[in-house]
Amino acid sequence: APAIVWFRNDLRLDDNPALMAARSGAPLVALYVLDDDSAGAWRMGGASRWWLHHSLSSLAADLARLGVPLILRRGRAELAIEAVVAETGAGAVYWNRVYDPRAMRRDSEIKANLRGCGLTVESFNGSLLFEPAHMRNRQGETFKVFSPFWRACLAAGGPPAPLPAPTKLNAAPAPASDRLDDWGLLPKEPDWARGLRDAWKPGEASARARLSDFAKIRVLDYKNARDCIAGQGASRLSPHLHFVEISPRRVWAEIIQSAGEAGLPYLRELGWREFFHHLLVTNPEMPERALDRRFDGFPWRDDPSALEAWRRGRTGYPLVDAAMRELWLTGFMHNRARMVAASFLVKHLLLPWQEGARWFWDTLVDADLANNSGNWQWVAGCGADAAPYFRVFNPVLQGEKFDPDGAYVRRFVPELAGLESRWIHRPWEAPAHVLAAAGVTLGETYPFPIVDHAAARARALAAFEEMRASG
Ligand code: FAD
Repeated sequence: APAIVWFRNDLRLDDNPALMAARSGAPLVALYVLDDDSAGAWRMGGASRWWLHHSLSSLAADLARLGVPLILRRGRAELAIEAVVAETGAGAVYWNRVYDPRAMRRDSEIKANLRGCGLTVESFNGSLLFEPAHMRNRQGETFKVFSPFWRACLAAGGPPAPLPAPTKLNAAPAPASDRLDDWGLLPKEPDWARGLRDAWKPGEASARARLSDFAKIRVLDYKNARDCIAGQGASRLSPHLHFVEISPRRVWAEIIQSAGEAGLPYLRELGWREFFHHLLVTNPEMPERALDRRFDGFPWRDDPSALEAWRRGRTGYPLVDAAMRELWLTGFMHNRARMVAASFLVKHLLLPWQEGARWFWDTLVDADLANNSGNWQWVAGCGADAAPYFRVFNPVLQGEKFDPDGAYVRRFVPELAGLESRWIHRPWEAPAHVLAAAGVTLGETYPFPIVDHAAARARALAAFEEMRASG
């Protein structure tokens, strides 16, 4: 009887344990199910759907080269799988686990039901370096602090070696499939995806090319170069890693092979990805609720027009605005810019981090439940091992430090492009003749700051004190 490989966030052939397990026996059915019904509030956002479309198309082409069609079904995963089992007479189902507690609960039910019907069912870790259940602190719990977590990862001697990609597959007779184009994952009118098309090429081949390019030389300078916002110091592998078009184990192996110990600062960042995923498994409420429960009573403001100014990149702080516009245009934002833009929402505007996380969810191509909520909570000071709430980023100084010549601002806030570097992060302080020469009229071509930094900082600290006093 055929074996079904249920593809999910593992859209690749390389280092794919479920595919390797299935391929050793019976003929294969490769299946992907678009299950919006089970996703609830965290249904995939617009930018992710764009990515998914192209990633599936790339996976389908790679499978087709090995003679196996990718079968597409839509609806609740359990029903789609049951239907394909019935149609193909499959005797086994294999998949790589998705470490989102909501999906995990559903997946164990699917496993139990299929096994109850006499099928062989196996699931594997194909998306994390280590199995979360095996990484425990001295108290036998999930690590809540990053450094000891990372030390434990290193002490484990690194992750298991990646598996090779199959070179031969044996296809079972194919059941019916949806047409990818009919799923409507791409935008129609307006076509907001042009910037995404220019910036990205989803799929396994592109992920591998990006990794080899980075691992050759750039990884050696990562520690120094990663924080330069306009530069190319970081790897930009995050959307590929979210859809797991490349496995973190493959990344680890290639970085160690090419850079040895000098690759560790980069691998440490993969460690943060790992840390937040492990945290999510034991804290299913992490996307919605502060891990630090004192924040349940935080006096957040309700201010739709400030929220809208932030979303659209019209706050009057050039670095924040460049960041928000980069996000809208390309589906991505540099990590340093994410920290500054997120901090601005939470601390300068005193708006709930959940609002920011929602916007990122819809607009990021790497939108990831664990990384997004983990990092938002980190910035807001309410998560595990978070930055202290009273540390408030100054968006002007951050700009001057990490975008010193204003290249990032000039690129994404073109109405300020004519300003000298000296004023580009603080246009409201520029003399009138400088603004006029650059064609900038504050309040018209570019907004005045929507809040004053010093006043906003004082307000944020007062709100924090209010929460502490009432807690
Ligand atoms: P690199 O610097 O090259 O790092 C390599 C890989 O390590 C990344 O691809 C990513 O998988 C992982 N990584 C790096 N930094 C972090 C981090 N702080 N937390 C977790 N993993 C990390 N990352 C996402 O993948 N999805 C998100 O939805 C997401 N939301 C974020 C929201 C906020 C408010 C902040 C501050 C950060 C968020 N990040 C998120 C983390 C980080 O900004 C991105 O992973 C990183 O910018 C991606 O760029 P890169 O691939 O060039 O990273």
